[in-house]
Amino acid sequence: MTSNPLARVGAIAFLNLSVSVSIAVFSAGALIPQSVHAAAPMVKKSAPGYYRMMLGDFEITALSDGTVNLPMDKLLTNTTPAATAKAFGSYFIKTPVETSVNAYLINTGTKLVMVDTGAAGLFGPTLGNLLANLKASGYQPDQIDEIYITHMHGDHIGGLMDGDKLAFPNATVRADKHDADFWLSQANMDKAAADDKGGFQGAMASINPYLKAGKFKPFDGATDLVPGVKATSAFGHTPGHTTYLVESKGEKLVLWGDLMHVASVQFDNPAVTIQFDSDSKAAAAQRAKAYAAAAKEGYLVAGAHLSFPGVGHVRAAATGKGYTWVPLNYSVLR
Ligand SMILES: [Zn+2]
Repeated sequence: MTSNPLARVGAIAFLNLSVSVSIAVFSAGALIPQSVHAAAPMVKKSAPGYYRMMLGDFEITALSDGTVNLPMDKLLTNTTPAATAKAFGSYFIKTPVETSVNAYLINTGTKLVMVDTGAAGLFGPTLGNLLANLKASGYQPDQIDEIYITHMHGDHIGGLMDGDKLAFPNATVRADKHDADFWLSQANMDKAAADDKGGFQGAMASINPYLKAGKFKPFDGATDLVPGVKATSAFGHTPGHTTYLVESKGEKLVLWGDLMHVASVQFDNPAVTIQFDSDSKAAAAQRAKAYAAAAKEGYLVAGAHLSFPGVGHVRAAATGKGYTWVPLNYSVLR
C-alpha cells in the first residue's frame, strides 16, 4: 500500500475506470442474441455423495444413502402443527422435509469401520445409494472389517444386504443386545400391530444372515470396540439405541445415529419427539443430554438425518434456550 495520497487517488480512479469498462463490455455482451448458444440439456444429477475429513490420524468418510421426503409436520410429537409450521418457515423448509440418510466410514489405519448402512430397499426408492457412494469414495464393500449399528430401523440396517447376499462379506456386525433382543424376536413381531410388523421383518432380513454366518456379535451397553471407537448407550429412540465415540489424537466425533431427526425443530426445542421413538420420553432425555455435552465440550458430532454430510458442532443458543447447529466448514483434503 502506497503512502502517497495522490497515488492512492490515482489507484481509486483506475479502479473506477476498470469497473466502467467491465460494465460496458458486459452490456455489449448482453446485446448478442441468445440463439447463438446451443440449449444444453440439464444434467439433473448430483455428484456422488461422500465427504471426507480427518479426525486426528483417522480418516472419516460421510456416505450418503440418499434423501427421503418425510411428512415431518405429521410425524413430530410433543409439539403442535402450528409450532412446527413456524419452525419450518423460519428455516425456509417445506414439508414433506427432504431428509438425509447418512452413514459414516472410519479408517483407523488398522480397521475399516462403518457406522450404519443406509436402507437399501427398505425405505423407498430414493434411498439405497450407499454402496455406489462407498465405491465412488474409493473403498470396496469387501474391505470393511466392522459394522456398528446405531439401532435396527430399516434406514440404518437395510444396507447390510445386497439382494440376497451379504453386502459386506468380510465384516462383523455389532449392535447393542437390547435392540437385537427386541427386533429379532419372533414373539415381539407376533404381538406387534399390523403396521409395525414390517420393522421386525426388516431387522430379521438384514441381521439374521450375518447371525447365521457367525458374523453378528451383539454387545451389552458401553463397550470399547476397536481402538479409538467406543459404543455409548443412548436408549430411548429404540430399546438399544447406541451412539459411537470416535477419538484420535484428542479429537472427538460422536456419531449420534437417530438422537434427533429434524434440525430445524429439535435444536431449538429438544423436547420435540417423533413417532418413530420406542420411548419418546427417554429419547428426548438422551437428546438433551447429548446436546448439552456436545455444546460444553465442543467436540464434533454427526447425525444420520442431519443434512448431508451431517457433521458439525452444537452450541448453546444465545437466547439461553435450546441449541444451534453449526455445520462443519467445508474443507478439501490435500
Ligand atoms: Zn433413522
